[in-house]
Amino acid sequence: MPVLHNRVSNEELRERMLAETEPRTTISFYKYFTIEAPQATRDALYQLFLSLNVFGRVYLAHEGINAQISVPESRVDAFREAIYAFHPALNNLRLNIALEDDGKSFWVLRMKVRDRIVADGIDDPTFDASDVGEYLKAADVNAMLDDPSAVFIDMRNHYEYEVGHFEDAVEIPADTFREQLPKAVDMMQNDKEKKIVMYCTGGIRCEKASAWMRHNGFQNVYHIEGGIIEYARRAREQGLPVRFVGKNFVFDERMGERISDDVIAHCHQCGTPCDSHTNCKNDGCHLLFIQCPACAEKFSGCCSEICRDELALSPEEQRRRRAGRENGNKIFNKSRGMLNTTLGIPDPEK
Ligand SMILES: [Zn+2]
Ligand SMILES: [Zn+2]
Repeated sequence: MPVLHNRVSNEELRERMLAETEPRTTISFYKYFTIEAPQATRDALYQLFLSLNVFGRVYLAHEGINAQISVPESRVDAFREAIYAFHPALNNLRLNIALEDDGKSFWVLRMKVRDRIVADGIDDPTFDASDVGEYLKAADVNAMLDDPSAVFIDMRNHYEYEVGHFEDAVEIPADTFREQLPKAVDMMQNDKEKKIVMYCTGGIRCEKASAWMRHNGFQNVYHIEGGIIEYARRAREQGLPVRFVGKNFVFDERMGERISDDVIAHCHQCGTPCDSHTNCKNDGCHLLFIQCPACAEKFSGCCSEICRDELALSPEEQRRRRAGRENGNKIFNKSRGMLNTTLGIPDPEK
């Protein structure tokens, strides 16, 4: 019986990883393609990744694969060959190599079969997620920005759009990706002849959105290959003007990568220009919001006086107050002018 799951304790695995002397490369990739037998595919891929000492988080569904992994540096070429050869749809797959990462984010290989690689709420069995729009590379994106018949649609959440987006991009005011999909169709209903350019952070959301628009009868649908991350990287590499304005929000400690010097957002507490996201220091709140340095000092890193005062209490008293209170990851969603407790982040763990 082959080993298809890890049975060593998490702690021990982490220690083993930290004891490794060989550096690891962090790689992410996704691909929409039809997987007839996700479980069997998962088991075969698990064996393959295990043989290459790959760690990370991988999701498979009938609609495709989504992976964040780390590969020992000496095995990266072997990994690339192996994944290209694993399935015809994966040949020449785009592998995103994280440059600012120490490769220590994973210490075990987790591979799961899910309903979808990105939750979309789509119930229609005739929807084909692999029937995607046309890919745009950096130069094509810039040409589209100058094309009056093109509309850019931002498929991310409000707090991402707020700190940075393409010039004149349209935002879809909804809390989650699954709510955005039907809204995008509605919003564009009277502009069916327009060129629709969809984008998101790394491409996985806008690619599915492009397929959904096509499914709904839109003919001229495009999406940015590899999302904002790949666009900015390629545009810089090729010396093209980078026409994404502001910051690209990403989920790591930096909470965003600056793309242009423009600061297009404002402190949620005093309104001064600022695009630095932070989480409220009160663990009973943890609201994600924008805070300027002056307000950070005034509120001790908290979102409000209430949270600041609560943070000043003894740990026991804080715990007592938190008991029974709903405590999700809250996000200040200005498109609704309310606190949003449902995360719209396509984290497959949720
Ligand atoms: Zn402020
Ligand atoms: Zn708070």
